[in-house]
Amino acid sequence: MRHFFSERMSGLDKTLIRRIHDLADSSSINLGLGELRFPTPKSIMEHVREKSSEWNLGYTSNEGLAELRGLVAKNCGYAVSPDQVCITVGAEEALFGLLMVLVNPGDEILVPDPGYPAYPSIVKMAGGTPRAYSLYPEDNFALRSEEVKKNVTAKTKVIIINSPNNPTGAVYSREELRSLARLLDEKGVLVISDEVYRDIYYEDEPDSIARYVQSFVVINSVSKSFSMTGWRLGWCIAPPELAKLFASFHQLAVTCAPSISQHAAVFALKGLAEAEKRQNLEELRRRRELALRCLERYTDLRCLKPAGAFYIFVDISRKISRYGNSLEAALNLLSKEKVVVIPGTAFGQRGEGYLRLSFAASAEHIDEGLRRIGRFFG
Ligand code: PMP
Repeated sequence: MRHFFSERMSGLDKTLIRRIHDLADSSSINLGLGELRFPTPKSIMEHVREKSSEWNLGYTSNEGLAELRGLVAKNCGYAVSPDQVCITVGAEEALFGLLMVLVNPGDEILVPDPGYPAYPSIVKMAGGTPRAYSLYPEDNFALRSEEVKKNVTAKTKVIIINSPNNPTGAVYSREELRSLARLLDEKGVLVISDEVYRDIYYEDEPDSIARYVQSFVVINSVSKSFSMTGWRLGWCIAPPELAKLFASFHQLAVTCAPSISQHAAVFALKGLAEAEKRQNLEELRRRRELALRCLERYTDLRCLKPAGAFYIFVDISRKISRYGNSLEAALNLLSKEKVVVIPGTAFGQRGEGYLRLSFAASAEHIDEGLRRIGRFFG
């Protein structure tokens, strides 16, 4: 069969995250989750139940409902026209399509290490070369423009940044974003800012590089902010010419985002589900505190206190010699203690010596999972 497959797909098997999840069974404690298990806000569900028979649920225009594009433009916090907005099948489609539209063979795309694994994989599929810029634990995984600068070459076209960050939970400061913006303007590099966790924060409200830089694309979705992962509804905001070209890709790939999800998102972006969104954030804040307390109580592992998203990147470097590397540690933890965590190397070489724990799990699972992790690392 293999000889039928395109070269584009070579080396692109399942991600490490999927492979670990596949090894787990229903009795495992899952601290590997990449999604909130909160239900979609009741107010959104009720609105859909009441109104959906009145909606036209055929195709929408390729770029999405005008009302929704208008709301995205109005809510983003900087001046853009609704024409620059395209409604997508989650942020993932936006990311995929943008890289397809932007990358030529030989182009270098800067991606964070550690970072969301889809970035380098999609860059490779698009025929480009991912080039990692490092984020350092001794720096609290902050974004350093000097580090980015070291990696900019004549071939650099795009940089992807992600704040609040998966997997570290770091939120980039205004100074970091401004300093990066100055560098990118000087070098003529386009930034794709992945802001899917922008509404999930526990300290200062995350800022966006879009306020400071000349050439940017922002991608976002209702997946994390409204616990609506399965509705597959996101968007990108791009410079006008790029938005047009992206819309051509989008038309060919998916025609339009699901129309029922677009209507639900209109309700959400009008601010009509804010109370539940706030409650969910408060619940996440409690789980974050619980996870940090349990880490301290049951283990002697160090971590960065996450300022956003719902992940804790835990340092196991002092314990790793027993297992060889973080993948082996995670596999052993799963087989001996039935706890799912994601090895740091799923996010790049710089993730070695770390495990990503998600506190999107229930309070019972957080407590019991960390108790077992404490026993395991002893
Ligand atoms: N970016 C990051 C950093 C993510 O963690 C995810 C989801 N795991 C996505 C993008 C994609 O989100 P969605 O397609 O559900 O909007």
